Order: sequence, then structure tokens, then C-alpha cells
Amino acid sequence: MPSLPTGPPDGRLVPRFAGPDTFARLPCLDAVGRADVAVVGIPFDSGVSYRPGARFGPAAVRAGSKMLRPYHPGLNVSPWDVMQVADAGDLAVNPFSISQAIAAIEAGARELLERAVYLVAIGGDHTVALPLIRATAARHGPIALLHFDAHLDTWDTYFGEPYTHGTPFRRAVEEGLLDLDCSVHIGIRSPLYAPTDLAEDAALGFEIISAAQIAKEGVEKAVQRARARLGDRPVYVSIDIDVLDPAHAPGTGTPEPGGLTSRELQLFLRDLDGLSLIGADVVEVSPAYDHAELTALAAANLAYELIALLARRWTGSER
Ligand code: MN
Ligand code: MN
Repeated sequence: MPSLPTGPPDGRLVPRFAGPDTFARLPCLDAVGRADVAVVGIPFDSGVSYRPGARFGPAAVRAGSKMLRPYHPGLNVSPWDVMQVADAGDLAVNPFSISQAIAAIEAGARELLERAVYLVAIGGDHTVALPLIRATAARHGPIALLHFDAHLDTWDTYFGEPYTHGTPFRRAVEEGLLDLDCSVHIGIRSPLYAPTDLAEDAALGFEIISAAQIAKEGVEKAVQRARARLGDRPVYVSIDIDVLDPAHAPGTGTPEPGGLTSRELQLFLRDLDGLSLIGADVVEVSPAYDHAELTALAAANLAYELIALLARRWTGSER
């Protein structure tokens, strides 16, 4: 008989603010040996083009995760009960060399995937998505990308540099990591350098569901469109916290007005129930620009939504 997963201490017996300093006060991966889902921090922000500070994102999101309770009523699942979720700590990556950092993140993610079935990564700037997708695609083959962001992140270079937080998904396409008949950006709205940005993004194979379309048509319609595109392919979800409006997530490096509310994004994620989710990241939380933990709380709750989706998939249970 397999032993039950180890969860966090009961918040009614151990104050949430006194508990372990891990995501949702969960056990460390080393304490439980292996996990079904490992939450891993990637404190790296040397790929940013504007405000820095996302290297402090993992610590802020962990701090913002202490109120997460065991039962998710929206998805009718208690993630910590049905699978072992653990905090794998932070990957120690070089802040002075983007290429070395990317190599270390890929190696670290591959290693973790030997000890955990799924990874939910907390950034860090969006550069980290590329090595995470490499490690995930190495296991699953080309994956459908469901990318939430104010920005396309399919630009070619900045100052001649190919590896930045504005370029990970163009590199992922070039490396053959993505299933392009299925990949989609959600919440796009930033001003662009030129109309060719959109043409190039389309030529790379992405579809866009913009923030304006979601505002006009509603979340439900947007989810339907996204799901029609994703089909039953293995899906990697990458959430740049700047997909949220700065009113809901001020603590980020490249804020853009006109974004989603935290509630809209929660509802969007819940409606993905049944999708073949195989990994995820929540990136670009830069706590120095945050207020009242708005951004850290939103990011922690979005990570919880993603873990709940994985738990639903794990149990195969009905909503
Ligand atoms: Mn962005
Ligand atoms: Mn981004």
C-alpha cells in the first residue's frame, strides 16, 4: 500500500506565517525524495529589456503562497492529497552569463524531471522558458505552447543578443520544440516595433487571442478558441505575469495597461480542465515594483491553479 503524500502543516494548528518557507508550506523535495509535481524557483533576470528584479520573484511568490489552502473548490480537488507536491528550491544559475544560465536551467530541469513527473517553475524573467521547454520537449516531443503574456516574445534579437526575455519562443520554434499547429498566445496587447512583428509571429506559426478580444468576447469564448487550437496535444503553459493588468500585477518588469484581471485568468485556467498539461511556468514577478503583495499573491494563486489542473489530470476525476 503506497503511503499518503506528505502535505503542508495544518494551517489551523501551525500559523501560516510560522510554517516552512517553501511554496504553500509544502515539504522540500529532498525531504520526500521524489514528487509527482515539483515547484522550482529560477531566480534569474539577466535577460530583461526594461525593469530588472525578477531574480527575487521565487522568494516573493513563495511568501505570497502561504495562504493557499488544501482544497480547490473551483476544480473540486485537494492537490496535496492526491499527489506528492514538493518544493525543489531554487536552481543556482549564473547571473553574469545568459548562455551559461540557460544551460544550467536546462540541466537542472532535466535532473528534476528524473525525480518529479511534472515541473511548475517560478521565475525569473521569461528567458527561463526556453530551457524549461527544452527539458520538457526532450521528454514529450514537440509540445503545444499556451502562452499568456502582454508581449509576443517572438522577437529575434535585442542588441544582437538572441537569448533574452523577449525572444524565447522564436528560439523554441527554431529548435523544433513546439507543435506549431497548436500553439497560441493569450492576452497580447503591447505596442509593437512595426506591423511586421505580427506578420513574423504568424509566419512562425502562432495564433493570437488578444486582451482586447477577451474583453469583447469574454473568457469563455477565448477558452473555446484556445482549446480548439490545442486539441489533445501535450500542452506547456507559460504565464508571464504581465498578462494581468498592472492594477492586478504591478510588480513586473514591462507592465502594459489593458490587461486581464486576476479573476479572468483564474477562470481561464479552470476552464482548461481536461487538457493534457505537462508542465508550466509563472514568470516575470519583480517584487520591488509590487504593492501589498498584489503580484506575488496573484502569481502564487495562478501556480496553485496550474497544480490543481495537474491534480485533476492525475486523478482523472470528474468536476
Ligand atoms: Mn510580457
Ligand atoms: Mn514574456
